[in-house]
Amino acid sequence: MRAAMNRLDQAFDLLRSNKPREAEALLTDAAREAADRFGADSAEHAAALAEIVGQENALSDLFERLRVGYGKTMIDLMRLRDGVIENIPDLVLRPRSREDLRATTDYCDQHAIPVYVYGGGSSVTRGFEATKGGVTLDLGAHLKRVVRFDEQNQTITVEGGMSGPELERPIFFQHVP
Ligand SMILES: Cc1cc2nc3c(=O)[nH]c(=O)nc-3n(C[C@H](O)[C@H](O)[C@H](O)COP(=O)(O)OP(=O)(O)OC[C@H]3O[C@@H](n4cnc5c(N)ncnc54)[C@H](O)[C@@H]3O)c2cc1C
Repeated sequence: MRAAMNRLDQAFDLLRSNKPREAEALLTDAAREAADRFGADSAEHAAALAEIVGQENALSDLFERLRVGYGKTMIDLMRLRDGVIENIPDLVLRPRSREDLRATTDYCDQHAIPVYVYGGGSSVTRGFEATKGGVTLDLGAHLKRVVRFDEQNQTITVEGGMSGPELERPIFFQHVP
């Protein structure tokens, strides 16, 4: 992992030197090396989890893993600016449904794989950092449906990946003549 992080630093240097192709090659290598932290049978776990959520919803590239490991604090922004990459998951899963959530968390529970939840990523408390590696569930890809609208009490229940602006868009437009 450490070696992969060093390569990441090098990749940032290449990007700053306007050498994006070289940086990309280095990052691909780094992602490949950094991917294996589940243990000896990680490929088996990754395949099993991808089977649950669908291959297209199981992501192990470095960018996605990094994206769900950083929030909106000044500390997050400064670390990114300095190329400090830490506490990222090994695998990002994008559950499509409650059944996906149950199946992935059951699987991780059975195999003692750490699980983190990423909603909108607006945390200012560093809560979703994958301090032990493992899996991050990215809710924002699919789980953003309206579950219930209570007209009388004017309350709405939405899934965990719904963002404020996305929620307001249909409500706003429905009420514009
Ligand atoms: C500029 C700014 C201003 C803010 N102002 C305010 C404010 O005035 N008042 C206020 O209360 N907050 C404020 N916040 C904090 C912000 O509202 C919260 O960070 C946000 O509500 C977190 O929601 P999220 O979906 O982005 O969660 P994330 O940032 O994705 O996650 C936050 C934490 O919750 C966990 N989590 C996320 N979704 C779930 C889930 N479905 N199930 C279980 N755990 C989950 C994560 O693992 C993590 O630990 C502000 C944030 C910013 C960046």
